[in-house]
Amino acid sequence: MIPLNKRVSDMPFSATLACNEMCDKALCGEKTVFKLCFGKSPFPIPQEIVEVLQTHASKNDYLPVRGLPELREAAAAHLARTQGVGRSAEDVLVGPGTKELWFILQLVCDADILVPTPSWVSYALQGHILGSRLVRLPTSHETNWLPSAAMLDEVCRRDPDRARMLVVNSPSNPAGAAFTADNLSELTAVARKYGVVIVSDEIYGDLHHEGKHLSPVRSYPEGTIVSSGLSKWCGAGGWRLGLFNFPPQLRPILDGMAAVAAETYTSASSPVQYAAATAYGGGPVVEAYLAGSRRLLSALGGHLAHKLRASGVRLTEPRGAYYMFPDFSPLAPVLATRGIRTDRELCDRLLKESGVAILPGSDFGMPLDTLTARLAYVHFDGATALSNACALPDAEVLGTDFLRANCKPIIDAVNTLAAWLDSL
Ligand code: PMP
Repeated sequence: MIPLNKRVSDMPFSATLACNEMCDKALCGEKTVFKLCFGKSPFPIPQEIVEVLQTHASKNDYLPVRGLPELREAAAAHLARTQGVGRSAEDVLVGPGTKELWFILQLVCDADILVPTPSWVSYALQGHILGSRLVRLPTSHETNWLPSAAMLDEVCRRDPDRARMLVVNSPSNPAGAAFTADNLSELTAVARKYGVVIVSDEIYGDLHHEGKHLSPVRSYPEGTIVSSGLSKWCGAGGWRLGLFNFPPQLRPILDGMAAVAAETYTSASSPVQYAAATAYGGGPVVEAYLAGSRRLLSALGGHLAHKLRASGVRLTEPRGAYYMFPDFSPLAPVLATRGIRTDRELCDRLLKESGVAILPGSDFGMPLDTLTARLAYVHFDGATALSNACALPDAEVLGTDFLRANCKPIIDAVNTLAAWLDSL
């Protein structure tokens, strides 16, 4: 038998797969299982975009490695429209999902990678595969689970001239947290001071609940790479389309990544790139779809957070995306009486005793004993809920009755979780 590369054989088992297995085991017990561990958009792809894909299904040519020119142009225009930062099509690199681009970025760059904790699992696991120099930045409630200027300054001060890349993700997975203008201007000032490149994962940018996504590219355009894709805001995860937008000053990184792309994936799927060009072009259909998605996710996030807080959980209301990051530590004494001392024990017992599956914070880099978890609130029929939300006048708040009627499975799931906590 050929031995595996040690960096791969050492890898922990995927958190989502583990959750899936746990859910299947729980299902064997014939209990209702609420899978709140998957972060997949609940909404269908806008029909107009699906039709563009269909129209281009016969386009069988390989496209340029860096991407379809119309898509690169539309992505540059999207950044100008949403963040007021002018870049050109030349600054964009397209790939088969942003996950692939993140991997190639780490492969190409010889720099320390600063990764906040908690954060999306793959930044660190990709670094593990590649042997990157990862530096963790532990965040907390106090910093709204986002990296702060003070944290970055503390790391950089020790060795000011080192090459570094800082990963930021707002709105965030796992907390649904979003930067404020003040946070960002302080953070980018420190990054500029030490020449840190910011790689800003904005896959949830268009799902900021108020449509007010703020990117570090605004105050640090020369040092910020923006990552975006169709998976979340357009509900098209399975289409596998992502893109990075670089400042001209960092063109050598784009060129290096394109050289690797040419030897690995060649180019992203051609029909999907035509559809993505229309999606990034925006327009009334896309705007209405996004407005409806944001309105629903905002109302639902607020409702669920309120419910969990009433059961003693510490929780900041999500400001974007469809995640929240409940902290069960105020309940630590009572959990301990039930033999629950780690976040994994908490999630295992919760699933076994109530059927609710959420992922432990330690899967996102948190210490085991911090009793945090990620809850993805996408467990409802997004197509019906979205079309009903869009049918209501813009000014109408989506109240409890609307949410109960349109998002029943997730409301039942969180009520079940709250009842479990109340029963401890
Ligand atoms: N970044 C974050 C924060 C994510 O949550 C995900 C998907 N879960 C990705 C990137 C990867 O997205 P994709 O590869 O589908 O573009």
